[in-house]
Amino acid sequence: MELWQEMLRQSVDSGKDLVERFNVDPEDAEKLNKLFHIRINPYYLSLIRYPGDPIWLQCIPDRIELEDQDAPEDPLNEEADSPVPSITHRYPDRVLFLVTSQCSMYCRFCTRKRKVSDSSKINSKWIQDGIDYIAAHPEVRDVVLSGGDPLMVTDYVLERVLAGLREIPHVEIIRLGTKMPCVLPQRITPKLCKMIRKYHPIYVNTHFNHPWECTPEAERACAMLADAGCPVGNQAVLMKGVNDDPDVMLELHRKLLKMRVRPYYIYQADLTKGTNHFRTPVSKGLEIMDKLRGHTSGLAVPYYVIDAPGGGGKIPILPQYVLGRNGKDIILRNYKYDIFTYPDVEERPPQHEVVERRFRRKKNGVKKEKVGVEA
Ligand SMILES: *Cc1c(COP(=O)(O)O)cnc(C)c1O
Ligand code: SF4
Repeated sequence: MELWQEMLRQSVDSGKDLVERFNVDPEDAEKLNKLFHIRINPYYLSLIRYPGDPIWLQCIPDRIELEDQDAPEDPLNEEADSPVPSITHRYPDRVLFLVTSQCSMYCRFCTRKRKVSDSSKINSKWIQDGIDYIAAHPEVRDVVLSGGDPLMVTDYVLERVLAGLREIPHVEIIRLGTKMPCVLPQRITPKLCKMIRKYHPIYVNTHFNHPWECTPEAERACAMLADAGCPVGNQAVLMKGVNDDPDVMLELHRKLLKMRVRPYYIYQADLTKGTNHFRTPVSKGLEIMDKLRGHTSGLAVPYYVIDAPGGGGKIPILPQYVLGRNGKDIILRNYKYDIFTYPDVEERPPQHEVVERRFRRKKNGVKKEKVGVEA
């Protein structure tokens, strides 16, 4: 057994553990574990500094989850775009391919709680269905492996998936959406990297939410992936009490760049059942974006997106930089709120088109007119 598998075995994963180690009320503990499983591996557990800290909030259940049962289970309506259980096909040229329901830690804010941790919802018999679906759909050029966490499967199973996808000529890129570099960096082994590099181009998107997660172990895992030729991106989720603070986000994104991880998205928290206590007003996200752009490397600035409820896909939101128009001028502000005027150009057809149109009209017997912009 590999080290990471051994560590997984040592996870905190029962209601009893919660009661004994985290003082959770015994009655709540069982209910919480039934609602959405608990799994905290010893590495991630070691990052907790005090009760209720940003690491704790992400992995230790809170009784407030029990009170939030009216919210939808599938707010992004993923099931509607799911032609086979392992595939979500929402965008024209790319699919989400769920290869396992398992994760090395169950995040309390997970948007896919309805499937994750429940092996009856995603399992290996659907992997082949997923590959067959992609093979039958030539418009799919980008496959995002997700779950669960696709690195929860063994190297052998993952290689079968990658090799299967690489046999499909229209699959151009493969992405691995994995939280492992953050929650169980020991999963990134030389053996795994050696295997992955056979199937390039492979992009990795990982999931760090707080600067305390940027440890030497995590840095090493990201460096190994980068050295193996995978561009590594990050998708953070904005959460109350965890990272809803511009200084924390600035620190996180600077640290990620130093770890060779390029910030990609900040997600506004979804409406999933049992996770609403993490939601923040959109104004908070805008405030964070305002404090990133201009104040640090543009490379450290991700897109802030809302995944549209009901399944419209990700919609980017930006602070207001265009303050208005004055005739043909655009009034802009910069990151320091200084005001600038940019003289816009009016769209007019190029000169040769004007001449051509006049020529055609003349030929058709229309009276000669002055060259110029037509109304
Ligand atoms: C996020 C997502 C993708 C990938 O979107 P990008 O913006 O290309 O990163 C693809 N399919 C689904 C269903 C998604 O939610
Ligand atoms: S790793 Fe991802 S899929 Fe797994 S519990 Fe966390 S957010 Fe959900």
